[in-house]
Amino acid sequence: MSTEARAIYRVLTKTYPDVRCELDFESPFQLLCATVLSAQCTDKRVNMVTPKLFKKYGTVKKMASADVAVIEDLIHSTGFFRGKARSLKGSAVKIMNEYGGEVPGELIELVKLPGVGRKTANVVLGHAFDIPGITVDTHFGRLSRRFGWSESMDPVKVEHEVGKLIPRKEWTNLSQRMIWHGRRICHSRKPACGACPLAKLCPSFGIGEMDKVKAMVLVKTDADFR
Ligand code: SF4
Repeated sequence: MSTEARAIYRVLTKTYPDVRCELDFESPFQLLCATVLSAQCTDKRVNMVTPKLFKKYGTVKKMASADVAVIEDLIHSTGFFRGKARSLKGSAVKIMNEYGGEVPGELIELVKLPGVGRKTANVVLGHAFDIPGITVDTHFGRLSRRFGWSESMDPVKVEHEVGKLIPRKEWTNLSQRMIWHGRRICHSRKPACGACPLAKLCPSFGIGEMDKVKAMVLVKTDADFR
């Protein structure tokens, strides 16, 4: 772990001590579904949709025999609902047929499920199986580049490069903290640099709003994601 990366990670850990997945779930399969639904959608919206969805199709078996039109209806507000409904049902059918009804706990198997990429697979491994994984979403990628940890736009390359800087046991927590920091402070278009706890360490300090008062207005809080 480089000294700079360690210093940045230490501040992220202090800023976001309580690391938890913001999606509501009660089983690996439910987390898989919620993560699929979270593509191009907020966790808050997903958490509004999943109680009804899981009440009806909360297990692999029930989802595998679900009516796709009903799934579409239940998840409509998360966007891209046709593709997501096909992924949910398709994953459940494959898990029933090829994995004995249990969500596989390996990246190489998870990415074989329809609609499941490395990002979704790593979320499931990290939060449902306690297997460390780096989740490179848009926030993680952007922050990695701003921190100088990677120059790549390719999520797989970012994953490998950052994986060399941060100890494996921290990967899941790192992913969550990066995502939180990206959502709350280091925004895509207007990062709140003037209110950022990483101001002294970040090589990109100054690309965003520098006025402390104006920057504070840009900062989002937990309440914005509930
Ligand atoms: S200093 Fe600015 S660019 Fe760096 S992490 Fe903070 S908000 Fe992002």
